Amino acid sequence: MVRLYDSRKRILVTGGAGFLGSHLCDKLLEKGHDVLCLDNLFTGSKRNIDHLHGNPRFEFMRHDVTFPLYVEVDEIYNLACPASPIHYQYDPVQTTKTSVHGAINMLGLAKRLKARIFQASTSEVYGDPAVHPQPESYWGNVNPIGIRSCYDESKRCAETLFFDYHRQHGLEIKVARIFNTYGPRMHHADGRVVSNFIVQALKGAPITLYGDGSQTRAFCYVDDLIDGMVALMESDADVTGPINLGNPTERSIREMAEMVVAATGSSSEIVFEPLPQDDPKQRRPDISLAKEVLGWAPTVRLEDGLAATVAYFRAILSEFETA
Ligand code: NAD
Ligand code: UDP
Repeated sequence: MVRLYDSRKRILVTGGAGFLGSHLCDKLLEKGHDVLCLDNLFTGSKRNIDHLHGNPRFEFMRHDVTFPLYVEVDEIYNLACPASPIHYQYDPVQTTKTSVHGAINMLGLAKRLKARIFQASTSEVYGDPAVHPQPESYWGNVNPIGIRSCYDESKRCAETLFFDYHRQHGLEIKVARIFNTYGPRMHHADGRVVSNFIVQALKGAPITLYGDGSQTRAFCYVDDLIDGMVALMESDADVTGPINLGNPTERSIREMAEMVVAATGSSSEIVFEPLPQDDPKQRRPDISLAKEVLGWAPTVRLEDGLAATVAYFRAILSEFETA
């Protein structure tokens, strides 16, 4: 439904050319807002936002959030940060700067503008969780010096900054802890499990299962997640989060490999590779709070979400072949 002109907002989306960010830009434009999409294109791509360039309410700005930003907007969604382990481990110092300096810069901007600000936090704040499923009250089990720490600890620090700006400066904050999300526009070389398995299956290459595949995750389709993010941003001012957003249906990674083989009709074999250091053994969100406060719960079945994602990658890969 399109909003009336007088409720239109100017909204900044950092990381807007990424997987989640580009879907969020679509959703906000669909709701009638003006969108300023900011990205340094580290893992994001112009291709994800190509279809928006003719829209007069859409603007793209190439900028790195570790540097200060001076723009005039009414709301900020802060998503800028590489999310895949291979990408956030590529330059771990830059990852920490992006999360921490990026948060400071965006919070400073929000403070000057008195703008409401959303933080894309992560289930990684729970680390390799000793409590299962994970409620927001759980403080986590995070290695501070491992190869995942640049992401996990900097996202934890960003949460601290958000709550300090809220307490100290009265800023309106919205903090979502996002669990594994998948769908069209994930980068084909993103390295995360769903895109890896689908691309491998479509190419007939071996499917790389790390460890014995018994580790679990719970996978949320991107459309569900974006609805949850927007519901949180639009909720009453006293709802700050952190709030878990994700799909509570838990699967082993081996099951995911088998589902991808079935969804693609591939003849790829599954091969076993070493489990990366500190890889969480289990993960599943407790979404009671999101249900209660936002009236939100995911609706897309994994089978359907996978079918849509496979169709996307099939199209992308055949484009690469003919290019
Ligand atoms: P993504 O890598 O596709 O998107 C991240 C975007 O941020 C990219 O477009 C990238 O170019 C941009 N970026 C990175 N560093 C930047 C910088 N210094 N300045 C400006 N832009 C920068 O990943 P995604 O899955 O879309 O994740 C988006 C956000 O959601 C991230 O903050 C991530 O931590 C969070 N998150 C995602 C998931 C998930 O499953 N997709 C889960 C938990 C949290
Ligand atoms: N994984 C795998 N093969 C791959 C990529 C990932 O078995 O080619 C595993 C990985 O070890 C982890 C799970 O899949 O246990 C999810 O990995 P992903 O990188 O998608 O997300 P995260 O570990 O950050 O939840």
